[in-house]
Amino acid sequence: MSQRIKKCEAIVLKVTEYSNTSQIIQFFSKEFGHIGVIAKGTRNPKNKYYGLIQLLGNYEIVIYKKDTTLSLLKEISLIDDHNLLTSDLNMTALAHAAAELYLQLMFGEDDHEKFYVLLTKFYEYLPGVKNNHIMVFWRFLLRVASFLGFSLKFAQCQVCGTQNSELFHGISFVHNGFICSNCAGKRAATEHFQINESTRKLLLTLKNLHNLESFEITEQDIKTINTIFRTYLSHHLHKKIHLRSLEVL
Ligand SMILES: [Zn+2]
Repeated sequence: MSQRIKKCEAIVLKVTEYSNTSQIIQFFSKEFGHIGVIAKGTRNPKNKYYGLIQLLGNYEIVIYKKDTTLSLLKEISLIDDHNLLTSDLNMTALAHAAAELYLQLMFGEDDHEKFYVLLTKFYEYLPGVKNNHIMVFWRFLLRVASFLGFSLKFAQCQVCGTQNSELFHGISFVHNGFICSNCAGKRAATEHFQINESTRKLLLTLKNLHNLESFEITEQDIKTINTIFRTYLSHHLHKKIHLRSLEVL
């Protein structure tokens, strides 16, 4: 087998139509991380892979790997199409947001497998939850931040160490977690995002998996916490992170 022929497990993050009958697919693979692949003829009904390649699906692929341009798809077989994700509009939006996030991230070579496992586990876990899928998504974002090396911490004020949660006034982007009102008052307002009581309670609950489904979450809480995560990731990655799929929530 040629050195350039590679077999790997991969998730479809994005599909674009190309020429009359082909597709360009952005995969995230366990072995190589991001791979851009051209799938020749897969939009032709006579092609054996016609209709097989679905967004968010999990596949085993064989590619002719190129480093500076698109790789070529040689074989593909389905592992799991994650079709349960499309049974609910909210869940679909969250699953797409996760793919959208991965498309904007760069991963170290040693990290491909753990990010791949994180995403597949998220897609497998989400349909099993009845309510509050958004909290599963936030937990996913916490894991992403932690894997990237900037964990968000919710146990204490990250500046003075007070554990009195009544005093938690905001999320500090600089100190990666809660900041109390005393410490926040001594720092630039741009260093943190101010939160209200219900947002604070939700964030404190995020670490506690068992209560996820019973929580009451308002639309405003969802918007606020999504903004916190997006701003937090943007701050640490030094670029604006977009999660447009969340706009339908
Ligand atoms: Zn403090």
